[in-house]
Amino acid sequence: MQTTDETTLDTITFMEQAVTVEESRTTPTTGLIPAAPSSPHQQAPSTSDSVKQYARIKLTLHVFTTALFFLLTIVLVATGGTSTVETWMRGVAGNDYAVLLLFITALWLLEGVLTLPLSYYSGYHLEHRYNLSNQTRGAWVREGLKGGLVGAVLMLPLVVVLFFWIRTSGSLWWIPVGGTLFLFSVVLARLAPILIFPLFYKFRPLEEGELKSSLLALCRKVGMSVEGVFIFDISKNTKKANAAFTGIGKSKRIILGDTLVANFTDEEIETVFAHELGHYKLRHVWVMMAFGTASSFLGLFATAQVYEASLAWFGFSAPDRIAALPLLALWLGVYSLVTTPLSNMLSRAHEYAADRFAVQLSGKRQAFQHALIKLAKVNLADPSPHPLVEFLFHSHPSIAKRLRAVEGK
Ligand SMILES: [Zn+2]
Repeated sequence: MQTTDETTLDTITFMEQAVTVEESRTTPTTGLIPAAPSSPHQQAPSTSDSVKQYARIKLTLHVFTTALFFLLTIVLVATGGTSTVETWMRGVAGNDYAVLLLFITALWLLEGVLTLPLSYYSGYHLEHRYNLSNQTRGAWVREGLKGGLVGAVLMLPLVVVLFFWIRTSGSLWWIPVGGTLFLFSVVLARLAPILIFPLFYKFRPLEEGELKSSLLALCRKVGMSVEGVFIFDISKNTKKANAAFTGIGKSKRIILGDTLVANFTDEEIETVFAHELGHYKLRHVWVMMAFGTASSFLGLFATAQVYEASLAWFGFSAPDRIAALPLLALWLGVYSLVTTPLSNMLSRAHEYAADRFAVQLSGKRQAFQHALIKLAKVNLADPSPHPLVEFLFHSHPSIAKRLRAVEGK
């Protein structure tokens, strides 16, 4: 649950993705740059070698963690490990739903423990090695535990509802499950900026001053309400800087990292802000949600068929057998491997559109270019990744391409 940078590949199920809290991409949030952006004053390690190296290590970890998830799941199911865990839990609880909750919690903890070294290496060690982090080890642990806890509070009730549908809807369970996930994503999008993000960051309104007046002027131009502009203390965790448009309905807001506000010029901040206003005005959150919903219904339909066909391979006879559910997560994971490049493609198109919008609205092409270069530098973002890597893994176009696009080339 560290950063959502381009190279972080989620290997978990849709449901987990829906609630991976600190990763703002899971709730409709459209950041300026991939995960955790920039740290302006921090120039030390950004030689092109270390940039490439950092990107390579992150990508490798990402692929490795994904592979590990698939491998662990197959081994656990195929060796009867999940059946054993189910039997243990039946010794503790009588009710099927209670058994389910214990079962999921046990596997979740197991996964957490097994992947802890990787999480630590990626989320703490590397960030410090490349001088990107402001976090103490204790804070990293606390944030991780908090993230896990909030995730569990959101996830476990959802799992119960989904299990209920699998149990009661015959072979059409994927329809109510898809509907439930859709409702959940809407509610989460609406509430996350108000209820969940504040658990991780402190938000404060922008101070009065020149910057505020110019941002408000931009807001007025696009008809966005001015209450929706906040600064959050991202600097407690990272030197990277970021900004995002987040939420829907009354909860929609633009959030600016304090690192951005502290280290970028007012003109640069204005253009970054205008980029986020672009996401708002062009309704990118809604487009993404529509795409996500269509994709999740399609994926649930497809995985329902494969899941039920594959049950017999592992000796299961019914889709609502608790020990078989990790298989369902596995197939959903396979499906998301296929669709992630598609949603990344859509997201990159949104970024180009928001960039164009930012230049038009602010009329400050050069300041925006400076801001992009600065962000890449402080976030140690690879300005020109391999095209295949970008196509598969990156939700944002490379900085080199964005600069060319802004230039109109
Ligand atoms: Zn953006």
